Amino acid sequence: MQLDFLGDLRRTHMCGELRIQHAGQKVVLMGWVNRRRDMGNLIFIDLRDRTGVTQLVFDKSNNAAVHEKAGSLRSEYVVAAIGKVRQRDLETINKNISTGEVEVAVDELQLLNESKVPPFLPFEALPNEESRLKYRYIDLRRDAMQFNIELRHKVALAIRQYLSGRGFFEIETPFMTRSTPEGARDYLVPSRVNPGSFYALPQSPQLFKQILMISGFEKYFQIVRCFRDEDLRADRQPEFTQIDLEMSFPQPDRVFEVVEGFLQAAFKAAGVDLKTPFPRMTYDDAIRQYGIDKPDLRLPKLTDVRQAFTDEDLDELRIDGSMEMVAVCVPKVGKISDREKKEIEASGKEIAKRVRDFVGVFYSFVQLEKKRPEAAAKVRELCGAGPDDLIVPVVAIRTGDGAAKTYSDASRKAQFVAAGEIRLELARKYADRHKAFERSGDAGRDFRLLWVTDFPMFEYDDKERRWNAAHHPFTSPHEQDMDKLESDPGAVRALAYDVVLNGTELGSGSIRIHRQDIQKKIFHALGMTDEEAKSRFGFFLEALEYGTPPHGGIALGLDRIVMILAGADSLREVIPFPKTAKAVDLMVDAPTPVSEAQLRELGIKLR
Ligand code: ASP
Repeated sequence: MQLDFLGDLRRTHMCGELRIQHAGQKVVLMGWVNRRRDMGNLIFIDLRDRTGVTQLVFDKSNNAAVHEKAGSLRSEYVVAAIGKVRQRDLETINKNISTGEVEVAVDELQLLNESKVPPFLPFEALPNEESRLKYRYIDLRRDAMQFNIELRHKVALAIRQYLSGRGFFEIETPFMTRSTPEGARDYLVPSRVNPGSFYALPQSPQLFKQILMISGFEKYFQIVRCFRDEDLRADRQPEFTQIDLEMSFPQPDRVFEVVEGFLQAAFKAAGVDLKTPFPRMTYDDAIRQYGIDKPDLRLPKLTDVRQAFTDEDLDELRIDGSMEMVAVCVPKVGKISDREKKEIEASGKEIAKRVRDFVGVFYSFVQLEKKRPEAAAKVRELCGAGPDDLIVPVVAIRTGDGAAKTYSDASRKAQFVAAGEIRLELARKYADRHKAFERSGDAGRDFRLLWVTDFPMFEYDDKERRWNAAHHPFTSPHEQDMDKLESDPGAVRALAYDVVLNGTELGSGSIRIHRQDIQKKIFHALGMTDEEAKSRFGFFLEALEYGTPPHGGIALGLDRIVMILAGADSLREVIPFPKTAKAVDLMVDAPTPVSEAQLRELGIKLR
């Protein structure tokens, strides 16, 4: 078919804009053919642009030539339509679209471009994800994707406005740099002009933002891409976007205030009101109360049920009274079948087995009710559980000769963690019966944010038999714990914090070390020699020597925030051009092998 030139034709309105008050006006619309209904003498076309759709009408008796042209249009053709807006007949009003009371009677049609038959249509049922990613340009035409990308824009804009309104400068930092301290694998970029040398893509702008504090910028932020070469789980992307910030002379609560402020603005952009300040909880409390360092506050805490058991109960049930005695309560599960009871028991045992140090940390409530009904009733009472609630006691069962054992703090923690896992697994399993634990995007939109503070400074790596930085090695320990750096590293608390939403970590940060002497001690505690520290971070250690102010900051995942606000269940729904779980971009087909000539130029030979 003959294509038309745009010439000097100008669009007067958007397809989502026309209302009854436009009736009688002559308009020029441009967009894509969404649907076409051919009724012989009348052809209807829904014309789509970013803002919505308008119904175009082509009437053979009015204009046979234009009607004929309309007959040859197909899905996703690009057209300009010139015509008059008119009110629709009462019975043809479409309440589902904002322009549903009007239509445009077209007297002139320009065909701006054709389209091959698309592999799927934007308004049809979702095709498989592979084809969505390969034909991303078509997938992005779908309403839901247009909505998500617009939401992403609005959220980022709200954050930018909030932060610049509070004196933060958005400052760019390099992508071609050297290894940063986040602890994942680096993406490397070979340097042609320095054969044999490589840049690393930043896992975060960590050291640059700290240097910006040394340079006196006081308040920095950046909505920035970060790169981590990790084995991808369903909810990870090799390149992702952080809202990264850093401030000079802050106490942690100054950082909290700023984050609460911009999150409030971001959620507002999505029509959600957030209450601030967010509750705060230390890491230790989070573990004791929820068995996890990112508690989902929509579910009840673990309950201490020690009081429910007499010495005789403990004996009879072979429960080790020197360990923790907690119960998980999952509300409103309702009746559960015998098969489900068995499943709960099996999965509880499975989780308990994964926990170091004990054999049986678990007790079936059904068994408990059978063997010691009074204790069971007390457990129920302590949990404040209703008849529809499901209870699982997580206690240590004595094994073998039952001789008293001394338990380490780690095994106590492990017991809480096991209880926490059981709590989440059951909540997930009964999600459909248990309305308080719906996917965050579902109806109800119950957003429960909190700060978790005072994380441990170090984590012990059993395999490598050494301590690692739990956050990163520039995180400041608590002043009061400084003397335990060598004697008891596991007990050192960090001035590190996470912001958590409905059981998901949205971001983490810390107050940093600003003194060279303390930084050195931390490297030592991490088993790094002076030489190693110097070769990895020498430039930064030197910078610390030139009048570094106390400083701290945080980084939050933008993709995840938008995903939650969009009610989506994958980051790929809110990233325009995401990668698959194998880190492949199916649309551009990357990564690809490169030519021998390119490799030679870079001085690289493949093994
Ligand atoms: N750079 C850290 C991260 O990406 C966040 C921070 O400490 O500010 O996890």
